[in-house]
Amino acid sequence: MAKTKDRETGRISIHTENIFPIIKKWLYSEKEIFLRELVSNAVDAIKKLSHINLVDGLQLSENYAIDITLDKDAGTLTISDNGVGMNADEIRRYINQIAFSSVEEYVEKYSKLAEDNQIIGHFGLGFYSAFMVAKKVEIRSLSYLPESVGAYWSCDGSTKYQLSKIDKAERGTEIVLFLEDDEKDFLEPVKVREVLERYCKFLPVPIRLAGEQINDCTPLWNQPSTEIDAATYKEFYRKLYPFCEDPLFWIHFNVDFPFNLKGILYFPRLNNEFDVSRSHIKLYCNQVFVSDSCAELIPEFLTPLQGCIDAPDLPLNVSRSYLQNDPQVRKIREVITSRVATKIVELAKSEMSVFGPIWDDIHPFVKFGMMRDDKFSDKVKDHIVYRTTATERYTTLPAYLERAAESHQDKVYYATDETAQASYLRLFSGQGIEVLLLDAMIDNHFIQFLEMKNSGVSFLRVDSELAETLVGKQPADDIATSPSGATRSEQALKVFRDCLPTDLDIKGETLNDASIPALLMQSEQKRRLSEMTRMMGNKEGLPAEHQLLVNHANPIVRKIAELNESGRRSDAEMLVAHVYDLAQLAAGGFDKERMEQFLVRSYHLLELVNPE
Ligand code: ADP
Ligand code: MG
Repeated sequence: MAKTKDRETGRISIHTENIFPIIKKWLYSEKEIFLRELVSNAVDAIKKLSHINLVDGLQLSENYAIDITLDKDAGTLTISDNGVGMNADEIRRYINQIAFSSVEEYVEKYSKLAEDNQIIGHFGLGFYSAFMVAKKVEIRSLSYLPESVGAYWSCDGSTKYQLSKIDKAERGTEIVLFLEDDEKDFLEPVKVREVLERYCKFLPVPIRLAGEQINDCTPLWNQPSTEIDAATYKEFYRKLYPFCEDPLFWIHFNVDFPFNLKGILYFPRLNNEFDVSRSHIKLYCNQVFVSDSCAELIPEFLTPLQGCIDAPDLPLNVSRSYLQNDPQVRKIREVITSRVATKIVELAKSEMSVFGPIWDDIHPFVKFGMMRDDKFSDKVKDHIVYRTTATERYTTLPAYLERAAESHQDKVYYATDETAQASYLRLFSGQGIEVLLLDAMIDNHFIQFLEMKNSGVSFLRVDSELAETLVGKQPADDIATSPSGATRSEQALKVFRDCLPTDLDIKGETLNDASIPALLMQSEQKRRLSEMTRMMGNKEGLPAEHQLLVNHANPIVRKIAELNESGRRSDAEMLVAHVYDLAQLAAGGFDKERMEQFLVRSYHLLELVNPE
């Protein structure tokens, strides 16, 4: 260290001489974090002073603020604060020794991770990060201590520095960055504002760019939830996500023990079940923005959540994979999951007119969560509801089973598509049998999960099996009319069997509802198996094995027998073909060829309606 009377030059005690280029290279993509680091230091300096002020009863000015000024002519960006300031000795200690050696340590520890972009917040770089964008950095500082002398420090990005006295009237520190030629972007107010808004928007000290404050010093998550109304929560959401629709609900938490965790999580309205286009939860550390994704802190099934989390105790300069396995992070995930469960239970207790529409939006992720997380499942399972054909529109599973107890014990009838299964639904509802509407993609899996969790309960799609109460007694007039001694029902069945493909299983049944001539049925187990093989990539799935259920109570079916009896076989066959097509149509549709045949036959049938 060479020292003349008031000018000192020296070497920063750093072992890796070429540390600067390394840092510049690594953090290329996130150079802008230098602003976060320098503004954070300014905030720290102000917090220190305000603490001293409080404890020592100094009568110092309390107009704390941080100013960022841009000077295009000089090519400088300056960050000024009116915090504690530093005298020459402190600069030696905190900047030359600490700031530089901590960066050296950082380089040794994290260089590999930083290269792979694995470090969460690049925390730990601190003051040194100024050299990512500056060819020269100056410090002008005046300590708050009485009789302090202004200190000037400068360093041109090598390991040499200069330290001398200056005249400085105002307490505090100015950090002047002489920007690198290709970093002149940071002289543009628009650019600097954007970066400040990202990282510094919620810092607790006023931050001004060209005199105008850009931050909100008391972010909503730091305020007591009892004092915040819904409109304020929504307004804050719009601040975080300016282009999003209002959220459905939110959870505000404030945990002090065993760790600090604050935040507001919002549940957004999703466009579809697998809407992953959302922006994610923002992670803060003591009100400083760290990252736009904190997947490690959130269980996968809660990915749709938005909002912010302030987790000051987390080690944010470590790798993501480390964080994933950190016990504290696991605990945070549990706290979040548990709070979400509590909120859902609370919402479920409100009027169905309120909860119903919310449920329609959130049920896929709740179901996904239940299948993923037993604790979550246990908490919410008694409160989740299902859409039902009953007048209440929503029901819990126990309530459904209770109502079903007499007629169809432990069987839950459900539909997956109200349009495609309309005639089955009409049949069930017409006879007073309640059907659950499980039409989300996830319901397929969720049904199996429910069966596993509720032993003895089985779920049957409306086209898989008829409830016993839908089937009545054989018609009294079903007597033998033909020379062969076959009853009318038997004759009708025979025509069906003769005309239709031989591999089709045809069964006669007398339904209480006479309006439907025939229905296609498919066993629940076979259908599930077939859906599963299709899901696993087999396009065709297993061959559909349908059964055609012919309703003897239906007048058309009876007419088929009569036509056959009176020798009008071709008319009988035409009706059979049409009834079969209608059953297929009711079960979901045709292929092209059958559609054509169906239309041609339909036109022909219409021609048969004769004018009087
Ligand atoms: P850290 O903030 O983690 O301590 P930094 O490298 O950011 O590390 O800063 C090193 C030290 O330099 C700080 O701890 C502080 O003592 C001092 N310092 C930096 N900026 C300022 C400032 N604006 N005012 C006062 N002291 C500062
Ligand atoms: Mg710092």
